[in-house]
Amino acid sequence: MGAVEAVAVDKTGTLTKGELTVTDIIPLNGNSEADVLRCARGLESRSEHPIGEAIVDHAEEAAVAEREVDAFESITGKGVKATLDDTPHYAGKPGFFEELGFDLSHVHATSDGSTVTTESRRSCERDDCLDLLEATVPTLQSQGKTVVLVGTDDEIEGVIAVADEIRPESKQTVQRLHDRGVERVVMLTGDNERTARAIAEAVGVDEYRAELLPDEKVAAIDALGEEYDGVAMVGDGVNDAPALATATVGVAMGAAGTDTALETADIALMSDDLSKLPYLYQLAGDANGVIRQNIWASLGFKAALALAVPFGYVPIWLAVLAGDAGMTTAVTGNAMRLSRLRPESGTTPSSAKP
Ligand SMILES: [Mg+2]
Repeated sequence: MGAVEAVAVDKTGTLTKGELTVTDIIPLNGNSEADVLRCARGLESRSEHPIGEAIVDHAEEAAVAEREVDAFESITGKGVKATLDDTPHYAGKPGFFEELGFDLSHVHATSDGSTVTTESRRSCERDDCLDLLEATVPTLQSQGKTVVLVGTDDEIEGVIAVADEIRPESKQTVQRLHDRGVERVVMLTGDNERTARAIAEAVGVDEYRAELLPDEKVAAIDALGEEYDGVAMVGDGVNDAPALATATVGVAMGAAGTDTALETADIALMSDDLSKLPYLYQLAGDANGVIRQNIWASLGFKAALALAVPFGYVPIWLAVLAGDAGMTTAVTGNAMRLSRLRPESGTTPSSAKP
């Protein structure tokens, strides 16, 4: 860990809290907000994704009725599919609905349209029509929100936007990793380009890669591994597990982390405190240094004594005392310097290098 040159971090649940909340519901095609929420609840009720959980929580608070769910299927990196009251329904990324054959640039808004802002109506000529592709979705995404569409084979029923909160220590963690010698910090996310950019700019990573499927996260780690000597990957989700396994060192979020991530990782950050990451990096680096110093000092000193005693330069009692007890004290003392290094809290700049 102390020798890695690049650190890759997942976004949702790692740089952000992963506690998503529903911020916007835009009903379409004559559906009401409650209709959209009812379908979304049914679809997401078996999803383990944080977005799904946020939608189900919101639906429970809004007390919308449950629907009968059958044939649930999770389509990795895209969305979910399930049969609700005998009709196949989908929920997922806008791109998923494009693959299903929808034209997202002209979608009928629900006539009351109270949640439809003029901005999101832009570039659609009629009043009751929304351009999801060029207006509604990009507007929500540039606010750092993630957009989920809900619909059937025939119509898009609505748009749900969820937002996440950046962990308070994320920005400082990235800054400190740089200060302490990490050459590159890269954010890897399955989320879309605009949401990713909003978060990446807020936390100050060098680079971000968006819209990655789990195996593309692995490819990103491999690519970093070719460029840099040692890559650490920090993540929390099932979708991070292959990348955690591929990286030189995998670091999982201890509490927010899924079992799969924890089992795959080499290190777990307890209480999900990201600010321990620069501490971990420095402690590991310093420990490597101390180990090398102690080995070379012991070997060198004992070699010198082994030569000096036969030639009578050092009396044998002194060689035994200095070479054994003396060296033990010296290497222990040297190693004890590591205990001076403490995890930082607050904003005090580091001067921890012994
Ligand atoms: Mg995650």
